[in-house]
Amino acid sequence: VSRFEGITMAPPDPILGVSEAFRADTNDTKLNLGVGAYRTEELQPYVLNVVKKAENLMLEKGDNKEYLPIEGLAAFNKATVELLLGADNPAIQQGRVATVQGLSGTGSLRLAGAFIHRYFPDSKAMISSPTWGNHKNIFNDARVPWSEYRYYDPRTVGLDFDGMISDIKAAPDGSFVVLHGCAHNPTGIDPTPEQWEKIADVIEEKKHIPFFDVAYQGFASGSLDEDAYSVRLFVSRGLEVLVAQSYSKNLGLYAERVGAINVICSGSDAAARVKSQLKRLARPMYSNPPVHGARIVANIVGDPTLFNEWKEEMEMMAGRIKNVRQKLHSCLAEKDKSGKDWSFILKQIGMFSFTGLNKVQSDNMTNKWHVYMTKDGRISLAGLSLAKCEFLADAIIDSFY
Ligand code: PLP
Repeated sequence: VSRFEGITMAPPDPILGVSEAFRADTNDTKLNLGVGAYRTEELQPYVLNVVKKAENLMLEKGDNKEYLPIEGLAAFNKATVELLLGADNPAIQQGRVATVQGLSGTGSLRLAGAFIHRYFPDSKAMISSPTWGNHKNIFNDARVPWSEYRYYDPRTVGLDFDGMISDIKAAPDGSFVVLHGCAHNPTGIDPTPEQWEKIADVIEEKKHIPFFDVAYQGFASGSLDEDAYSVRLFVSRGLEVLVAQSYSKNLGLYAERVGAINVICSGSDAAARVKSQLKRLARPMYSNPPVHGARIVANIVGDPTLFNEWKEEMEMMAGRIKNVRQKLHSCLAEKDKSGKDWSFILKQIGMFSFTGLNKVQSDNMTNKWHVYMTKDGRISLAGLSLAKCEFLADAIIDSFY
């Protein structure tokens, strides 16, 4: 008998489990709108040309594979914080930012979770309802208590701004408020600039610490600067801010696991101490981060020609998703004779659309139509082509009514 007899079967992951079920389906018309990964109009995975170029350059140069320092590749850390805040940001010039390369967005969030647990054992995290499912797992595993603030209003399929503000106000002073920098996952609903100001007011008043999750910079609007608006606003107000970054989506480096955790502090002393402790936490967990993806980012951002090519490809990807969003909306508006207003789809931003389909309806999408999606009604538009919009609209209307 196995020593592991007492170990029960873990449930499948709600997002990655969808891809497993998709692979097992033999139907020809199947469509995977579960995981957030960019596909071409032919629904094929996409490696950016600029990434291939950077890799060729790296090969020519003959870079070695020696260990990185615990905090990661220096050129990457410099590039990533400059991309986030803007190279001329006073916080960078004053040495007030602790940047540590992490294992993509998830690993960077998890490292910050370990930091919060160790140095703020009495604080809790506030996460939006709903949020990216892994936020709960991350804080649970880091043993950081969390609770939710209202975010999504099903009546308007929009932001419950008043609910959000009052819940952030009601949280104990000094909570870590987790915010999506742009392209909120799963709803695709972002606060307006005026709303961001008010959110910053309440956070400041309550002495909370804003904790941004930036997984889509440049990928939401097509502009790196526009998508960093929220983070830069909070930093410009002199707040101390945590920011986890990911290059999975905007550079298509999903499997390379490249990202960073940045802690913007009020002074350079604090930043140096924070950085030393982040390194201390990373060392026994994974020792040091992988070099390949970090080098790709550093080479692209550090070379004006490649940097411009990246921006063009990012605009192209964001543009394709916007086109699919438009087309899906017009198919739904045309086919649905019930008079339902589908315009909320056009107001959402980023790679997802929150359809409003409930669990039973989402199950119908999968069981009857072979459309794979998460059970909260979220679909990834990045996994949809213009050619499949009509089919998807039929499936959605059938499942709704
Ligand atoms: N945060 C959010 C909101 C996300 O949607 C994702 C990816 O889907 C991530 C973080 C992190 O992804 P990764 O760990 O691949 O960088």
